[in-house]
Amino acid sequence: MKKAFFYILLFSVLFSACNSSREEAEVLILNATILDIASGEEIPGKMIAISGDTIQAVLDMEEKDNFKAAKTIDAKRKFVMPGLWDMHVHFRGGDTLAVENKDLLPLFLAYGITTVRDAGGDITTNVLNWRKKIGTGELTGPTIFTSGPKLDGPNPAWPGSIEVATPEDIPAALDALEKLEVDYVKMYDGSLSKEVFYGIIAAAEERGYKTTGHMPMSADILEGVDLGLDGSEHLYYVMKACSPKADSLTRVNPGYGMMNEIIDTYDEELAKQVFQRLKDQQVYITPTLHIGKTLAEVLEVDHSKDSLLPYIGDGIIDTYRGRIQSAKRAKSAGNSMRNKMEQKSMEMIRPMYNAGVPLLAGSDCGPYNSFVYPGESLHSELERFVASGLTPREALKTSVINGPAFFEVQDSYGSIEKGKKADILILKKNPFSDIKNLRQVSAILANGQIFTREELQEMLETVKQ
Ligand SMILES: [Zn+2]
Repeated sequence: MKKAFFYILLFSVLFSACNSSREEAEVLILNATILDIASGEEIPGKMIAISGDTIQAVLDMEEKDNFKAAKTIDAKRKFVMPGLWDMHVHFRGGDTLAVENKDLLPLFLAYGITTVRDAGGDITTNVLNWRKKIGTGELTGPTIFTSGPKLDGPNPAWPGSIEVATPEDIPAALDALEKLEVDYVKMYDGSLSKEVFYGIIAAAEERGYKTTGHMPMSADILEGVDLGLDGSEHLYYVMKACSPKADSLTRVNPGYGMMNEIIDTYDEELAKQVFQRLKDQQVYITPTLHIGKTLAEVLEVDHSKDSLLPYIGDGIIDTYRGRIQSAKRAKSAGNSMRNKMEQKSMEMIRPMYNAGVPLLAGSDCGPYNSFVYPGESLHSELERFVASGLTPREALKTSVINGPAFFEVQDSYGSIEKGKKADILILKKNPFSDIKNLRQVSAILANGQIFTREELQEMLETVKQ
């Protein structure tokens, strides 16, 4: 080879290596330590390339010259993980409170929550509109999965619910939900009969809809599971199945009044069998521990100085009164069921987790649910999981891994990998060593947008006003 030709060749190879072969991304996160929530691995020295709302590549830092981007984020000494999912929230309170609900959407992002599962309310049209606008970037907030209206029996407990009085009403109710393009079916037990409860599960299963929610206390959760029930909210119904007295108590008085005796007669061996069934059928259980504790202690704790209270609109604060009134009534009647529930719930978490029951982190935040604040409450829920005996990483799985798994979208969520959605949380401290470190947000990426700590702070100030 002639020397001149060799140099031309060498030059062109180098030139192309430095320039034309560099792939383009919109954002590069450099020097990241990626937290793999599924395995617990901490993977240092990574570069994450992002295009639009998608992770384009995850490479070693040595390969960083393969990419160029207009924006870079240095994540040195920081921890990078997928955004959080709150699997039980509510938007509600009627049209007059729609704006107050909407104003709280940025709170989720500020706390690292990039997806929420709305468990039903009475402002469905608004929620569907936000779901769309958040998707297109016109509105700032978390990705929303919604049940739309709840399904309840005659004279539903919550406004906006669809009345399903008899099994004959089920097809029309599901048609209505299908028309709204809801993401799953939420049932409520204001007056739902057990026949209708079972009927909804079977019919929704046939149409390919997931079902979860409350259960009439006259029903049996495992019968629901056999028909295809996909989830259960709060722990009453699982707890009921763990008492050998459940059937006889149901025959006498099928209501929440039986919970005291259910808890007193809770049977560990029976519980093991119940958990095995829930595991085998992959029934997602949302314990809502934080709201349980908050409502159990609502009369003892002074919430007037809560740091998040100033973010909540006056109309929503008004809705907090109901729970306080019912707590007062329970207290004067000597009813301490909430305290017992809370204690038993905490004891059930570790055994359920060990049995392989998929648990979901859901805060139940929203109007009427006093002092359970959007965003912050999911952190409190995860902290309750840890207080009940889960490791921080196990607690994180209930949000980051099991959230997407409930909707069978784990191909797009749950880890920092090529092709997955770039809903990303950059943290100053490692949450594997202390779950409270999850509150140390440095930046958030969601729906193709970056929010720095400063921008999140500004966003919070706007919510406050
Ligand atoms: Zn709820």
